[in-house]
Amino acid sequence: MERERLFEVARRTFDTPEFRGIEFIEVEAKSVINHVPGNFLPFNYTINPYRGCLHSCSYCFSRVTHTYMDMNAGRDFETKIVVKINAPEVLRRELGSKKWKGEHIAMGTATDPYQRAEGRYRLMRGILSGLVDYRNPFSILTKGTLILRDLDLLLDAARTADVSAALSIGTLDEEAWRRSEPGTPHPRKRMETVAALNEAGIPTGVLMAPILPGITDDPRKLRDVVKAAIDAGATHVSPILLHLRPGVREEFMPWLAEHYPDLVDRYEAMYARPYAPSADRKSLGRTVDGIVRALGGMQLRNTAPRFRRGEQTHQRRPPEEPGEQLSLL
Ligand code: SF4
Repeated sequence: MERERLFEVARRTFDTPEFRGIEFIEVEAKSVINHVPGNFLPFNYTINPYRGCLHSCSYCFSRVTHTYMDMNAGRDFETKIVVKINAPEVLRRELGSKKWKGEHIAMGTATDPYQRAEGRYRLMRGILSGLVDYRNPFSILTKGTLILRDLDLLLDAARTADVSAALSIGTLDEEAWRRSEPGTPHPRKRMETVAALNEAGIPTGVLMAPILPGITDDPRKLRDVVKAAIDAGATHVSPILLHLRPGVREEFMPWLAEHYPDLVDRYEAMYARPYAPSADRKSLGRTVDGIVRALGGMQLRNTAPRFRRGEQTHQRRPPEEPGEQLSLL
């Protein structure tokens, strides 16, 4: 753990149906704002309060991060969840530092901050309270409908900073969902969450990711997602074709062989490298663009006044009163 600058303080299990067989490894983190090196992503800083994810998606590219902590990318990733229990306090210290310039922070970039564990540990409420108090801009990507629990804090944040969300919804196909994302909320519930957030005034898009070749890339299935996203007032729909990096591929291919054996040869050919051929990725983008246009484009909802770029600077402001205390267990 020290290699990750995480210091284990306890291991817990909870004998409830939703957490049976799950081990929570509670750790203290030295820092929680992570700098993302390079310019290949549209953000430079991230916060990830959990490692491992109960959503258990077969294709998850974060699986490999569990191996950095001497656990495996398969069952361990799904059943041994690392919880940074001091994340809210450490974040406040970092936001208050003179070195911090109030840059955008992306959440949900590695593991899902609104996975089921969050219902018990409530770290995101402490994290959002800190971001609200320091007027720090941020975005959240999740598959968790639990994000609506924190709508009050999201609205507080959106009054003084640039705040947005996106729900990851690759398909509305029941069978593909149950097989590939067994621990996630139903995709229709996720779409309802997109609608509720937009309705409330939090600009929220849909990341159609990942699209699984031969499983969820049928144009009718893509149209179902795009249509539902438009109806939900989504700010954007962004399709991403599956990629399979080393470490994830070893977990994904046995899953594919079990559930879609006829597709194994096709995937072997398509994923000789981590990314699908450029022509396939471009073709997916064109198909989704065409569907959006055919459906009349995105229909944004602006139902609540919110922060707009240029209205106010992202000035850091020390908290006027103590932030919400971390509530554990
Ligand atoms: S929700 Fe995201 S982080 Fe969690 S398993 Fe699925 S892809 Fe991975």
